Amino acid sequence: MNQYPSLQGKVVVISGGTRGIGLACVQGFLANGAKVAFLGSRQETVDSALKQFNMEQRKDSILGFCPNLQSETEIKEMLDQIVDTWGSVDILINNAGVSDAKSIYEYDDLHFSEVMKINVDAAFRLTRLCAPMMKEKGKGAIINTSSMVSIYAQRSGSAYPTSKFAVNGMTKALARELGKDGIRVNAVAPGIIETDMVKALDAKMIQAMAANIPLQRLGKAEDIADAVLFLASDAAAYITGAILSVDGGFVG
Ligand code: NAD
Repeated sequence: MNQYPSLQGKVVVISGGTRGIGLACVQGFLANGAKVAFLGSRQETVDSALKQFNMEQRKDSILGFCPNLQSETEIKEMLDQIVDTWGSVDILINNAGVSDAKSIYEYDDLHFSEVMKINVDAAFRLTRLCAPMMKEKGKGAIINTSSMVSIYAQRSGSAYPTSKFAVNGMTKALARELGKDGIRVNAVAPGIIETDMVKALDAKMIQAMAANIPLQRLGKAEDIADAVLFLASDAAAYITGAILSVDGGFVG
């Protein structure tokens, strides 16, 4: 992991931090001396991630939560606890997300909106509730996890690219709106990254796609975390509204 001195002591909120890309981000921020509140969808996954983070040694710099991301009340309660403990929120990583592979002929409204609710609505809600704290400090960084499908789309599961195009739109719109408040808003667009999300997809399809990656390998969660750390740090002080492809050259 790269080291960014400007991340030392910063308070970071990371959704979807229990595994995959989010977990690598948690580890990266901890390794940079930040204080990390990570979110998962269930208490048991939060507890098992806490064990991995060696809670005893790091108990002053890590908190785990599992708020319902559709509940403003639960998110506010969580943020109150974070503020009571660490004073504020400096950096938000909107990483929680679900993929999809359904054919258009199999969709119903409910399924489509479930994907949008977690990938778009939850990111907007967390941003809306964290941005005022950053504005008060005159400085903040928000990084959204988009996807290469936000550029390239895919042949099924159209709710997923639809949601990630929306994430890009939200990133660019809020970068324009929040720049005057000292808040930078960027996104990373991962390619094919070896996480549970990709393990759930058809192996033959993944192999065929991997053969076309210029850097000749699938990505690792740490590749994405490195880009997130950079965008969150002062090394990216003049970058906002960017959708940074981290995909081995596949699409971006
Ligand atoms: P993952 O499935 O390993 O992890 C997803 C995370 O999101 C988990 O921590 C999970 O707890 C959280 N999450 C999912 N549904 C939730 C819900 N309803 N409420 C709260 N939390 C929920 O996936 P990953 O590959 O690490 O993906 C992380 C992000 O990266 C996602 O936004 C995904 O769309 C994006 N992404 C992944 C890839 C890839 O190849 N793995 C590529 C492009 C983009």
